[in-house]
Amino acid sequence: MSIRMCASPKTMIALLAFVGTTGSLVAQTWPAPVVKVEGLRQISAHVHIIPDNSVPGVPNVGYVVGDRAALVVDTGLGPRNGAAVYEVASKLAGAKALYLVTTHVHPEHDLGAQAFPGTTKLIRSTDQEKDIAESGLGLAKVFASRSAVHAELLKDANFRKADITFERDYELDLGGVRAKLTAMGPNHTVGDTIIWIEPDRVLFAGDLAMRAQPAFASPRSSLQQWLASLDRLEALKPAIIVPSHGPTGEGAGFITSYRAYLTEVHDRTVAEKRLGRSVDQAVAAVTAAFDGREPDKARLAGAIRAAYAEAP
Ligand SMILES: [Zn+2]
Repeated sequence: MSIRMCASPKTMIALLAFVGTTGSLVAQTWPAPVVKVEGLRQISAHVHIIPDNSVPGVPNVGYVVGDRAALVVDTGLGPRNGAAVYEVASKLAGAKALYLVTTHVHPEHDLGAQAFPGTTKLIRSTDQEKDIAESGLGLAKVFASRSAVHAELLKDANFRKADITFERDYELDLGGVRAKLTAMGPNHTVGDTIIWIEPDRVLFAGDLAMRAQPAFASPRSSLQQWLASLDRLEALKPAIIVPSHGPTGEGAGFITSYRAYLTEVHDRTVAEKRLGRSVDQAVAAVTAAFDGREPDKARLAGAIRAAYAEAP
């Protein structure tokens, strides 16, 4: 597969709306997006995480350690973060086989993979490969423009080729613990992958359920698909949700609050469309109806636009 490095105009518009750089007149200062490995902590029998401390451009990193092998979830932004994340993996896993999966292909989740040694097996869904082909390094360029530190971290960063690919589900036996990887269809991105650690009831939910508002970052992001995904997440009955950003959650709280939000966006937007309103009028009306209850207006607008496009 050839990797196209320039995103299509439609994809770039969605990405820019998602990162909120359009229309902003105030220059923002970004904290250094560095994975703080000293934060490593164990959250269940087989799972450790390095929390992101809610720093933009840093993911929650996960480690699932079995008797025979270990799985790393998300890499950090660029090779230097990837190397630090790998070093922790090698300490936790010793001589065991190492696998790597990413919740999606956005730069802070995926663009540290090249720092892992060749013996690490990178697992990707075919949807993630589609995402890379469609969006390329478009978002990496946006991230690199945030500061000199961002640019340095992303220098020479590129996507690593998968060693193992799967279509919908992939089960990985780590020895005494299984990780079930599922491609969830177009939600936050086309290639959102969740990782379910059955015996520990820990769910790595990616951007599909977290504290921050959901972000529709791909022109193919679907609100209907997202609602269906939430039902599937809830059916797992997770004890702990590790989202790709922000604090971990106990139980299904992130799922139920996402459902309430997306359902309200859906219902209000459909009503506006039935009244013959344009998409821009719907964005204005539904945003006004939320009356500041959801702080991120760009993300709210992204959800409304997705709902509008899908409404009959
Ligand atoms: Zn993302």
